[in-house]
Amino acid sequence: MKILIINCGSSSLKYRLIEADTEDVIVKGQFERIGIDGGHFTYKQKNGGSLERNAYIPDHEEAVRLLVRILTDPDMGDLESLDEIEAIGHRIVHGGNKFTDAVVLTPQVLKEIEACSNLAPNHNPVNLHGIRACMKYMPKTKMVGVFDTAFHSTLPEEAYLYGIPYEYYKNEQIRRYGFHGMSHQYVSEETARILGVNPSELKVITCHLGNGASITAVKNGKSVDTSMGYTPLEGIIMGTRSGSIDPEIINVISENDHKTLSQVMDILHTKSGIYGLSDYLSPDMRDLTAAYHKGNPNAIRAIKAYVYQIVKYIGAYTTAMGGTDAITFTAGIGENSSLVRSLVCQRLSVFGITIDETANENGNDERIISTPDSRVKVLVIPTNEELSICRQTKALIQE
Ligand code: AMP
Repeated sequence: MKILIINCGSSSLKYRLIEADTEDVIVKGQFERIGIDGGHFTYKQKNGGSLERNAYIPDHEEAVRLLVRILTDPDMGDLESLDEIEAIGHRIVHGGNKFTDAVVLTPQVLKEIEACSNLAPNHNPVNLHGIRACMKYMPKTKMVGVFDTAFHSTLPEEAYLYGIPYEYYKNEQIRRYGFHGMSHQYVSEETARILGVNPSELKVITCHLGNGASITAVKNGKSVDTSMGYTPLEGIIMGTRSGSIDPEIINVISENDHKTLSQVMDILHTKSGIYGLSDYLSPDMRDLTAAYHKGNPNAIRAIKAYVYQIVKYIGAYTTAMGGTDAITFTAGIGENSSLVRSLVCQRLSVFGITIDETANENGNDERIISTPDSRVKVLVIPTNEELSICRQTKALIQE
């Protein structure tokens, strides 16, 4: 059964065609810089074949048209007919209170997703463009929407409510939603598989540390708390995002620096995090790591504060779950930064955690990096959001 995965960003469209029964990737690639100069397209096949082109791609509809053409191209394509695609799984960022699971996309469902767009104005509209373009060029194919927020729909009320008047929740649905749901779900399930236990018997803290970053407490297979909130700005320090701050700081910067609210919000989104904390040295953990090892005080400050916040969340979530069996690192920094993992785990020795530095330093694949006698297992698992979308799409169409 072939399933096509579509993930639309504001100026990109990433795709992956997966043989769902074996989970083999048949072809993957992306369209980048959609609607801006310097457009670029890649098509990478399982057998090593590939195609790359520079071309202006005006919008997501044109990207889908080109994708359909290349997929069925007699020389280069991997399909004889589009009928071979059983379903398309679309990544959708925000499902609001309404969508707590993957859903078959019908015109009525699209209207309801549109109604959630105010919760993710930079993401949901572009996700919908991609869906509508696929419906235009592949009208006979079943479409499924998989939501970033859905995995966190199991949060208990005490974890998703903010300490503000309840009427804002009742009238405007202001609550913690959480993001990176597919990643947290995927790595928590993989953690259970690697440890040889049922997800329903595992307490795991999943640390998705990329440019955007979030930490989730997964108890018995369900998300019970997560660090991102109403928007992806809340939580730990990120690449350029501040994470949680005292809201009064917004007033103070606005008044002292004569900035509008939107200018202050722009600082919190694009000039903060490890970038701002390192005095604008870099938002990229690779650059900061190199500078850290040379003793650069800006890099040391940023990395220490970053690590501290991760440790704080792990401590809090251990308490929230009444203990933890495992901690799993994933995404760009979580998968690749042995420095961050090592510094975090050093501070967790209070929980009886010890890691094997050789296992921490070496290897690119999923692995256990804690020592056999560590009271809590520590793992590194590369995330695979596309596979998570594929599994959920397959499960839904087989129901
Ligand atoms: P993501 O958003 O998941 O693509 O993650 C991006 C982040 O991963 C950036 O901060 C990168 O610097 C970081 N990253 C990628 N490779 C490495 C590496 N080898 N060492 C440290 N950080 C890395």
